Amino acid sequence: MSKGFLLVISGPSGAGKGTVCRRILERNKKLVFSVSATTRLPRRGEKEGVNYFFVDEEKFNKMIEDGDFLEYANVHGNLYGTPKKFVLDQIEKGNIVILEIDVQGALQVKQSYPEAVFVFLLPPSMSELKNRIRKRRTESEDDIDLRFKNAFEELKFVDEYDYIVINDEVIEAVQKIEIIIEAEKLKVKRL
Ligand code: 5GP
Repeated sequence: MSKGFLLVISGPSGAGKGTVCRRILERNKKLVFSVSATTRLPRRGEKEGVNYFFVDEEKFNKMIEDGDFLEYANVHGNLYGTPKKFVLDQIEKGNIVILEIDVQGALQVKQSYPEAVFVFLLPPSMSELKNRIRKRRTESEDDIDLRFKNAFEELKFVDEYDYIVINDEVIEAVQKIEIIIEAEKLKVKRL
């Protein structure tokens, strides 16, 4: 059986990573989503073990100490991390694993697991990005400003990625990522 691979979908907050990943997973039942751990409080409707593993800072720090994370980062004031064992086991089993993570996290994965496939999801424009962050209504004004400022910083790292996908229409972005997945399945060598 051939090994699977890791698909990292990353980009600034408000680019639509969450929506795009959900649609890809609905349409491709064989793909596996990596559920991250976070110290952020659950938003309305979010479920433990489905959206995130919600943990306190003490537990998160213990997980760091124990080497449980493939990568972790402080994103907009909260800690987020990818459980290493789950991801590596799934790849070993031949599955394609999707990580939906921020840019700092993606850059760490690039160091420790360079054979992953890196997709940078972009909004059609920066003004659209701000609209999208605002429309969510889950963040305070300060938080919106912080996320917007971070987005500018994150754009500088676009060259580190394998693919850029502009998320204007969700379905088109989803189809482009599905094409990337199909192409990567045919790849002869992974680094
Ligand atoms: P949110 O709080 O809106 O769910 O996520 C905030 C940001 O954290 C998003 O950009 C999301 O992609 C990122 N994120 C979610 N899980 C992880 C993770 O495990 N590691 C890293 N580095 N970022 C994550």
